[in-house]
Amino acid sequence: MEEGAPVRFVVDVMLGSLARWLRWLGYDTDYANDRDDRELVRIARAEGRVLLTRDSTLAVRRGISAMLIESQVLDEQLAQVVRAFPLPQGMSLPRCSECNTLLQNVSPDAVMDCVPVYVYRTHKHFRRCPGCGRIYWPGSHWERIGRRLKRMGLEERDPNPTDAP
Ligand SMILES: [Zn+2]
Repeated sequence: MEEGAPVRFVVDVMLGSLARWLRWLGYDTDYANDRDDRELVRIARAEGRVLLTRDSTLAVRRGISAMLIESQVLDEQLAQVVRAFPLPQGMSLPRCSECNTLLQNVSPDAVMDCVPVYVYRTHKHFRRCPGCGRIYWPGSHWERIGRRLKRMGLEERDPNPTDAP
C-alpha cells in the first residue's frame, strides 16, 4: 500500500453487513458474495487491499495484509476496523452500500420521480449512486448510521449537519 493512501478493503463472503457499513463510512470496500479463498487472496494481493475475514487460516496467508474479524456482532466488527484504520481527515464521502461507488449530491428536483412524494416533500438533501441509481436521504439510512456510530462510541460524520428533521 502507498504511504498516505487511504486503506482499501476486500471483504470475505461471511461479512456482507460489515462491507455495506464500511462503504457507507467512505471506505473503498470490495465485496461479492460468491468468492472463494483463492479469489479473495488474489484480489488482496493484486490490488493491495486489506483482507477482512473471519477465517483465521486465511488471515495469516502470506503475501497479503489481512485482519481477522473475531466478533460476530456487527457493532464490534465495525469498531475493530475503524479503530485500526481510522478514516483520514477530509475523506468523508459515503459510498453506495450496494455497489461501492462514490455517491453524488443531487437536488430534490433531480430525484422527484424516483422517491415517494412524502420523502420528496420533507427532505432537501439527497444523494444518488451513479453506479446503480440507488437514492439516499436523511431519515432512512443516515439516521440509523448516526445512531449506530454513537452507540459504538465513534464520532458521527453527518453529511448534512444543518439539516433539520
Ligand atoms: Zn450503487
